[in-house]
Amino acid sequence: MARLACDAVVLGAGIVGICVALHLQKRGRSVVLVDRRGAAEETSFGNAGLIQREGVYPYGFPHDFGALVRYGFNRTIDAYYHLSALPKLAPFLLKYWHHSRPARHAEQAQRYSKLIEHCVREHDALALEAGATRFIRRNGWMKVFRTERERDKRFAEAEQWRKDFGVHSRLLDAAAFQEIEPHVAPILAGAIHWTDPTSVDDPHGLGLAYLRAFETLGGRFVQGNAASLAADGSGWAMRTVEGPLAARAAVIALGPWADVATRALGYDLPLAVKRGYHMHYRAAGEAQLNHPLLDTERGYLIAPMRRGIRLTTGAEFALRDAIRTPVQLGRAEPIARDLFPLAERLDTEAWMGARPCTPDMLPVIGPAPRHKNLFFAFGHAHHGLTLGAVTGRLVAELVTGEAPFVDPAPFSASRFG
Ligand SMILES: Cc1cc2nc3c(=O)[nH]c(=O)nc-3n(C[C@H](O)[C@H](O)[C@H](O)COP(=O)(O)OP(=O)(O)OC[C@H]3O[C@@H](n4cnc5c(N)ncnc54)[C@H](O)[C@@H]3O)c2cc1C
Repeated sequence: MARLACDAVVLGAGIVGICVALHLQKRGRSVVLVDRRGAAEETSFGNAGLIQREGVYPYGFPHDFGALVRYGFNRTIDAYYHLSALPKLAPFLLKYWHHSRPARHAEQAQRYSKLIEHCVREHDALALEAGATRFIRRNGWMKVFRTERERDKRFAEAEQWRKDFGVHSRLLDAAAFQEIEPHVAPILAGAIHWTDPTSVDDPHGLGLAYLRAFETLGGRFVQGNAASLAADGSGWAMRTVEGPLAARAAVIALGPWADVATRALGYDLPLAVKRGYHMHYRAAGEAQLNHPLLDTERGYLIAPMRRGIRLTTGAEFALRDAIRTPVQLGRAEPIARDLFPLAERLDTEAWMGARPCTPDMLPVIGPAPRHKNLFFAFGHAHHGLTLGAVTGRLVAELVTGEAPFVDPAPFSASRFG
């Protein structure tokens, strides 16, 4: 077979890798995007679809005693753990706990917000070029509250975020919320309507639309195993189903599987996953859900999607490849049904994805510390859809030597030593 040659190979065709590949191809580089399966078929397939402009604080490990006790019993909806995984996960969890201390979390939010602030604009730009604006809804999303205590606490937080980060919201009491979402049961104390974010009604469809834009510009998508990546002179080589591939530069965008390539190259990065599930439901009768809603005190989200109402679950702490245990879905479903009239399930089994996480809650973006012409783009945790287009642009700028539009220093893998 003839040898494929290109300027850059991007490993991993999740939303992050697709956006990197598209941005590089837009800059006139010849790019091959490689995945072991179809594009956007893993974590980027089934997320909740939020482009979280308000997500300036990355999701931290709770530090209040009550929450820790609840989690200890392993009976909550928002978090669940495999007891057998704890010995292996303990070093990650300890670091995660450390970085989630309020003062440290606030520092991380300052760094993180520099990426987050561009998320809506960067997706809008790519979606326009890709003819994919039909996937994007512009009416924000909502956190809903069952108690006045939680509502008032979160209202104060939203006000603080407005001052600190310029994120906008409407603070709704029960009556105002009911007017906007009349089919939700009248059992809530109020809601925060985040008005800056957008949401996607088919994350897989958006990924495929970006892929088509990449291919239209001349990019190639081929199947191959990232584990075969190896240094080749000053560039990179790997095997694909279409033959051997040689590239001047390589970008590792393998999400939860980043370690498949990084370990072989000698990087021992503290990566773990928070798994999550989804299920679709038909809305009963004429019921309509107008916004994605996070049932904050219960810890699940429902979002109107093309396929139906998508219920997504919180964090499952387990080994990436351990058997699926959609316990949180089973717990959330009856509670979600009491909140909104869900009819029958539309999927034969629960979908599962694995959020690719770092213990300091920041993604890994930028040049590999010890290899030339190698770049990292993974660890986007709860916000890979949100940040896909931002990371895509930033990595493309770093690969091509342009001035980066965001300072990449806080996201360098070298922070892990
Ligand atoms: C329930 C749930 C809800 C979520 N909701 C949101 C949300 O509302 N908003 C948001 O921003 N984020 C959300 N997320 C997080 C988001 O989905 C992820 O951060 C994002 O999809 C990660 O994208 P990625 O491209 O890094 O990884 P992936 O999409 O997992 O892509 C990695 C790719 O690497 C490929 N790969 C793996 N191994 C190999 C190999 N050996 N060789 C070649 N290819 C390989 C895989 O096939 C895959 O295509 C949610 C996640 C979950 C689980």
